[in-house]
Amino acid sequence: MQTNRELFDQVMVPNYNPSEVIPVKGKGSRVWDQKGDEYIDFAGGIAVNCLGHCHPALVNALTEQGQRLWHLSNVMTNEPALRLAKKITDATFADKVYFANSGAEANEAALKLARRFALDKHGEDKTQIIAFNKGFHGRTFFTVTVGGQAAYSDGFGPKPADVVHCDYNDLAAFEALISDKTCAVMMEPLQGEGGIISPSKEFVEGVRALCNKHNALLIFDEVQSGVGRTGELYAYQGLNVTPDILTTAKALGGGFPIGAMITTTDIAKHLKVGTHGSTYGGNPLACAVAEAAFDTVNNSEVLAQVKHKEQLFRDGLNIINEKYNVFTEVRGKGLLLGAVLNDSFKDRARDFLVASTKHGLMTLVAGTNVIRFTPSLVIPDEDITAGLARFEMAVSDVVNG
Ligand SMILES: *Cc1c(COP(=O)(O)O)cnc(C)c1O
Repeated sequence: MQTNRELFDQVMVPNYNPSEVIPVKGKGSRVWDQKGDEYIDFAGGIAVNCLGHCHPALVNALTEQGQRLWHLSNVMTNEPALRLAKKITDATFADKVYFANSGAEANEAALKLARRFALDKHGEDKTQIIAFNKGFHGRTFFTVTVGGQAAYSDGFGPKPADVVHCDYNDLAAFEALISDKTCAVMMEPLQGEGGIISPSKEFVEGVRALCNKHNALLIFDEVQSGVGRTGELYAYQGLNVTPDILTTAKALGGGFPIGAMITTTDIAKHLKVGTHGSTYGGNPLACAVAEAAFDTVNNSEVLAQVKHKEQLFRDGLNIINEKYNVFTEVRGKGLLLGAVLNDSFKDRARDFLVASTKHGLMTLVAGTNVIRFTPSLVIPDEDITAGLARFEMAVSDVVNG
């Protein structure tokens, strides 16, 4: 069988348009395709592969648990899920964990919990959910409706009701929107898909204060920003603002599908027996891998290295920019970085991605105008230097047509 890009068009639903390159092997921050061509990975599976490819701690956890016990369903609990939940609650504001299989499912649980909490506690008029333009929360119908891009939620018929949006970092607009009818506010503490946009201190602290004033729950979607990505275990820990509910996925499993919604005992108690669930959620195999990833990342040395590696990226990108003048700024935090294109290259982020692939470098875009970098948190410094050299060749190609 020819496993190539043509076969994709024959047998796959056409909702993706993947590259011609088909990787077959990865080790650390290097990946090899079917032809044996090598790539440096600055994409990290979209902020998922926090420890690169085939990290020994994860391979070990997977193979050990794989020979022990794979799946039970939630009729019985299991040791890896219990250990992982204990470690997550010990390291965060939360007392309770609900396991899911993806970011969207973790957010779906958070939104359902917020609605249930408000109904139980405040009555049936408190249903409004506020979220932000350009926000991204997943692709289920509820989460895509809460997400701030109509292009993703339109065209599927009637949407879940009472969801409204305003601009991120616009505290006055938010204040005008929130009221005692607001049940919850969902936000990314650093917008990822929307273009790598950090909240101002005034904004994020103001949102928290207004949620308190109106008895609305603050939900932080840390699906992309969590698990070491910003140099903190969770981004909220660097913001001086604590949410009521937090969702985590992507890097949580280091490449194995898992998500979680975490919260306090007082809020969690509203998801009573039978109100919500998932067949795979808390699966032992996923939790064993996630436990190994969490143990490895939740380490002050690893987190400090993220900040050091951020500086290497920033310095390297600034040097490239001095030569070629393509960016207005490099923004983001830790290893969730975006290079914003200037007017001469407006909306051409994809051209840089394609040119990078030709030079053996995997990158990402965030929207049409930002080149996004979300590499492994433990990418060797040499791979950063080598990858940036390849990126410079790609930039040169685009600049010189
Ligand atoms: C990726 C992402 C999601 C969706 O996660 P899935 O695992 O694809 O369902 C939700 N929120 C944010 C902030 C994300 O970056």
